[in-house]
Amino acid sequence: MEVALKIDVDTHQGLELGVPRLAAMLEREGVAASFYITMGPDNSGRAILRVFRNRGFLSKMFRTKAVSMYGARTILSGTLLPSRPIALSFPGIIRNLKARGFEVGVHGYDHVRWQDHLDDIGDAGVRNELGDAFEVYRAILGAPSKSFAAPGWRTNNAALIALDAMGLEYRSDTRGIAPYRCVVEGRTLATPEIPTTLPTLDEVMGRRDLPDDTAVREFYLGQCQPDALNVHTIHAETEGMGQLESFTSLVHALKERGVKFVQLREAAWRLNRAELPACEVVRTTLPGRAGWISSQGPARISAE
Ligand SMILES: [Zn+2]
Repeated sequence: MEVALKIDVDTHQGLELGVPRLAAMLEREGVAASFYITMGPDNSGRAILRVFRNRGFLSKMFRTKAVSMYGARTILSGTLLPSRPIALSFPGIIRNLKARGFEVGVHGYDHVRWQDHLDDIGDAGVRNELGDAFEVYRAILGAPSKSFAAPGWRTNNAALIALDAMGLEYRSDTRGIAPYRCVVEGRTLATPEIPTTLPTLDEVMGRRDLPDDTAVREFYLGQCQPDALNVHTIHAETEGMGQLESFTSLVHALKERGVKFVQLREAAWRLNRAELPACEVVRTTLPGRAGWISSQGPARISAE
């Protein structure tokens, strides 16, 4: 059984505090992982305000302790207090990740803008977000990023086409069951898409049938497919902070079951692009998550 840990870093605090803790734990455990870092400003206060405006989600916010998880500074970032740069505040942490052998990729520029306004900013706006994000990455690491993971698992045709033109090794923008190539406007794109296959912790934390850490751990062990690449997205702000202990126990349990941890790029390197199914990218909703996400749709007949 293989598991790829995709670690999304959405905030200033997540990069400053969550990433070093996660990296230390993963290194100690000998576990490979891929970090996806938001390259632009931390406007997460706006995202949290948006969630609070969505009244149906208020109870979930309290149940999942989002406020204590994110902290007051993050909640105010980009609202009452100015937004702080994420990646450019901690270039040393990012370089250090790469030096230690972790994979580092781009998780958008302005996470909140992408997630909340992807369809409003136009094709040029999408290209600007991508251009700025890849530019910051290159400025920090001295080489271009070879991969991208869309903020909030949201993408659209403009983003998919612009990213395909960059010749990346792969993207991880969507939810799905197995690697595929995206069909956009009738055309099958070249870049493999490696979707997240497992639900995220914030999607399952409020579930009544999973009342404690042990139940959540057993749930994840049961979700992992034996003959597949299981892609688990975790968050520096969650599994790297308040949930570090329970996430570490999940890592231990996976190791005990003989799971092999792989980086997403390693999974991408062995893909035969010609053999991947060609699938439309559809929009859907997931239990425990607000709003739409992009998902692997049904396969088309032929990849070419
Ligand atoms: Zn994210």
